[in-house]
Amino acid sequence: MSGDDVYTGGCLCGAVRFSVKGAPLRVGLCHCQDCRRVSGSAFNFFGVWSRSVYEGTGELGTFEGRSFCSVCGSRVASLRDDEAEIMVGALDLAPSDIIPGYELWIGRREPWLMNLPWAEQYHHDREPRTIDAPPIEPDIPAPAQQSET
Ligand SMILES: [Zn+2]
Ligand SMILES: [Zn+2]
Repeated sequence: MSGDDVYTGGCLCGAVRFSVKGAPLRVGLCHCQDCRRVSGSAFNFFGVWSRSVYEGTGELGTFEGRSFCSVCGSRVASLRDDEAEIMVGALDLAPSDIIPGYELWIGRREPWLMNLPWAEQYHHDREPRTIDAPPIEPDIPAPAQQSET
């Protein structure tokens, strides 16, 4: 991934489309109760980019900072003044080439999910930092080839 590459994504119905440019500043998994509820799944997988590289079209609804497609309800992003937190599952690239560097609220992790051995582990939220470490690039074995669905 070079700095000029663009990730595109959108919601399930296609009304919302967005793009972010370059590699994410940081990438995490969050197992907290709020992330479970808002996703309806076991955890959130998100990447954070500078707000300045985010572009989007389509009408977003927003609840407590979390935005979703007003038509189909798909979660897409949380847009703040300085940062755009993107739901990695909303990207067009599946699987993505984005790898989590940390996990949050690990006490809420489903017991059948393994912790990521290279990822920083936090019992609660991550302490804010002014300077972020670059995303980690672990040597992950290639998954077995599967037919696409
Ligand atoms: Zn939609
Ligand atoms: Zn969370």
